Amino acid sequence: MGKDVATMPREATSRGSAEHAEDLNPFHIAQLQFDNAARYIPDLGPGLAEFLKLPSRMIQVEFPIETAEGEVRNYIGYRCVHNRARGPGKGGIRYHPDVTADEVRALASWMTWKCAVLDVPFGGAKGGVICNPKRRTKDDLKRITRRFIAELGDQIGPFTDVPAPDVNTNAETMAWIYDTYDMLHRGRNNLGVVTGKPVDMGGSLGRNEATSRGCLFCTQRALARGVVPGLHSVYGASVVVQGYGNAGAIAAELYAAEGARIIAVSDSQGGIVNTDGLDPTAVLNHKKKTGSVLGYQGCKEVSNEELLTIPCDILVPAALENVIRSDNAADIQAKLIAEAANGPTTPAADKILFERRIQVLPDILANAGGVTVSYFEWVQNNDYEQWEEDEVNLKMHVKMERATDAVIDKQTEINSSLDELNAQRKKNGRKGSPLVPVDLRMAAYVLAISRVAKVTLERGIWP
Ligand code: NAD
Repeated sequence: MGKDVATMPREATSRGSAEHAEDLNPFHIAQLQFDNAARYIPDLGPGLAEFLKLPSRMIQVEFPIETAEGEVRNYIGYRCVHNRARGPGKGGIRYHPDVTADEVRALASWMTWKCAVLDVPFGGAKGGVICNPKRRTKDDLKRITRRFIAELGDQIGPFTDVPAPDVNTNAETMAWIYDTYDMLHRGRNNLGVVTGKPVDMGGSLGRNEATSRGCLFCTQRALARGVVPGLHSVYGASVVVQGYGNAGAIAAELYAAEGARIIAVSDSQGGIVNTDGLDPTAVLNHKKKTGSVLGYQGCKEVSNEELLTIPCDILVPAALENVIRSDNAADIQAKLIAEAANGPTTPAADKILFERRIQVLPDILANAGGVTVSYFEWVQNNDYEQWEEDEVNLKMHVKMERATDAVIDKQTEINSSLDELNAQRKKNGRKGSPLVPVDLRMAAYVLAISRVAKVTLERGIWP
């Protein structure tokens, strides 16, 4: 029996190279973020808080595939629904050797808060399969996808839980998911069971670029609102991008198209630097040809750790979790961090960055363009419609600007009412240290948790 990677479930992950004093389990981080934010919501009772913090469902499936050579290989897959108070579960499916149950739980909960920040009528969900796509053929990946989706059965569906692409999955994977689900549920419109599909089979124009475009819109709005003193536009700004996949490579192209100078980029193998500016499309073509950004002409090569500490105006983490931590946050030399990735910054790093006045546009806001256009795709599918790309981008722009404004305004509101909030906590008999000024991540959490809590109580706890 072949094993792609260790297929035993692993409960904790510690992505990152060095020994860390910090707890890097992503679900522990997600819970800590929730607990910190909940302190700023005086009328959030402990029972409701616990319900909102924990996932409502976690499924683990174990399944085999038979390769073209006739070998049987086994895989473990997860699908977690964190919360469905505001609508069907929504979230990507990741293929990676380091996927863990707790990573999937964390990513699912971040989806709940992201959809709430953007005011998109979805809940939060996420999935993952422990596998190494680099070692598998396309046929194997198709078999893994089909069997995983068949194992999930009716746990996903157009009005219950709707997957999308994430790390190492793409429009082609989404087409296989749709086809598998449709084969098992014939005779009805199943297009809305998955988003991020190819455009000629129900995908939305603009979805492929949406995560990165949304990150750009959020950055532009935050800069125009004066979040970074002295930096009011991406035009002329120096930008470093970590990760050169869907989110990172397209972000580099879109920021460059707005006049930014892309001075360094990286992928899993390392980074390249040219302070005069890189041509992001030429780098992408080089990566497609050679498998890495390394070796691109006229550049200095750096390690992934070094890349993060290059002096720049804007740093865009677009790879995986826990890359900005307590052990390197003091070395970051960016003025603004725009989180295209999910969970790139740990709570300890957030504290250091806040003290150093480095602004962070948090993942649950900055990379929400993807789920926003996924929502538009779902609406188009259910209405048998196809919108023009300009219409999609315009609608997303409006939502990203509104959400960015809401988060910045929430931060101002909280930080200007700390005395009242502390007095209320005392009156309610709440324990713990006094509330202190919040960063944009905490403001986004407070906004999101309040919205989900409100809808939960409006619906009423069933039965
Ligand atoms: P992807 O698989 O297309 O790309 C990931 C990239 O990260 C690859 O270039 C890989 O080489 C690189 N990478 C991996 N480890 C690295 C390391 N240690 N240092 C530098 N680079 C490294 O995945 P993606 O869809 O672009 O997702 C990237 C991030 O964006 C994830 O956190 C994902 O959850 C988030 N995200 C993606 C979407 C989407 O629509 N695709 C939406 C929202 C958030």
